[in-house]
Amino acid sequence: MQKRVLLKRGKEESLLRFHPWIFSGAIASIEGAPEEGDVVDVYTSDGNWIAAGHIQVGSIAVRVLTFVQEPIDKEFWKKRVAVAYNLRSSLGLTDREDHNIYRLIHGEGDNLPGLVVDVYGRTAVVQAHSVGMHCCRQVIAEAITEVLGSRVVSVYYKSETTLPYKAQSDNSTGYIIGGHLDDVPLEYGLKLPVDWINGQKTGLFIDQRENRALLEKYSKGRSVLNMFCYTGGFSLAALRGGAKLVHSVDSSAKATELTNKGVKDNFPDDNRHKAFAEDAFKFLDNMEEKYDLVILDPPAFAKHRDALKRALIGYRRLNEKALEKIEPGGILFTFSCSQVVTKEQFRMAVFTAAAQAKRSVRILYQLHQPADHPINIFHPEGEYLKGLVLYVE
Ligand code: SAH
Repeated sequence: MQKRVLLKRGKEESLLRFHPWIFSGAIASIEGAPEEGDVVDVYTSDGNWIAAGHIQVGSIAVRVLTFVQEPIDKEFWKKRVAVAYNLRSSLGLTDREDHNIYRLIHGEGDNLPGLVVDVYGRTAVVQAHSVGMHCCRQVIAEAITEVLGSRVVSVYYKSETTLPYKAQSDNSTGYIIGGHLDDVPLEYGLKLPVDWINGQKTGLFIDQRENRALLEKYSKGRSVLNMFCYTGGFSLAALRGGAKLVHSVDSSAKATELTNKGVKDNFPDDNRHKAFAEDAFKFLDNMEEKYDLVILDPPAFAKHRDALKRALIGYRRLNEKALEKIEPGGILFTFSCSQVVTKEQFRMAVFTAAAQAKRSVRILYQLHQPADHPINIFHPEGEYLKGLVLYVE
């Protein structure tokens, strides 16, 4: 029997606007006893086929893979990977000597809800955020290596933190094609200490690439404080940009170790850098050094809508502390990667922080996620990273 989902009357409206999620409350009935992760066909209450996607237990019940009737087979995955690759290629992110890191697939932004693929040299790191993508991991890995040819020869699968418990339990983390390579991950000429096996996310926050490049331009002669440094990408950009001193802070000792390694790999015998494994709020309270370029790139303070209010207070407090202490003529790069916080709400939190700190602040840039993290216009929820560059008198 065909595995299918029948919608309640009128509940096809968002699908007619190509929104890729079907919430459980929109479903009238499910036929053919699909298992979690199966592909199901979706029908309107009038009995018309409208979409096909992966089914899952939870509030997002179906993640749509296609709005046209087509088989979800190897050719389907190859077609989607090719479209995604061609975009990155046209952005000038592929086939470079000095740069080999980019996001190949960004979930809904590449019409593949639940799938993230990051490329580091000739290795692709695949991360499933849905049971359906987890079930398809091998065919996806094959599609990637077939479409990219010699450009990607190893695929590492890493979803231990991104899947519901049931799917996680089958121990599938590891190389699913090829094995470990010695390629050095490069971001615009800088060697980045990426560790996809033990690191956070797929090993790097690729989404800050263009913002790190912007920071480099403003680093000359400045004392830089990189809060929430993780692998230290902003610190490396500042050092290359000619900063006179760079301090990196992260509560995780693993992160400060990686940052130190990155500094050593790129700037051996350079003594301008120091890393601190400390809580950011405490560091800001107790710091003695004066800084005139500060980066605040905290983890998402709100992962769900219920946490929004507290998150906004968190952003306000953090920015207030930094604005109180930054030197006159200083520059603050401040970010939020919480998807539920809008750019208006974030800007309001920073506005309040500036008012409380009684500093004169002007906005120089409004930043966002880079082009290899595209936003599907039909899925505005895909817009998550926002940042402000502020000039503080
Ligand atoms: N700016 C980084 C990415 C930051 S990710 C880059 O360009 O790659 C957020 C980091 O904040 C993580 O490494 C996490 O360990 C760290 N973190 C989380 N809570 C913290 C806290 N209270 N104080 C300091 N660091 C914290």
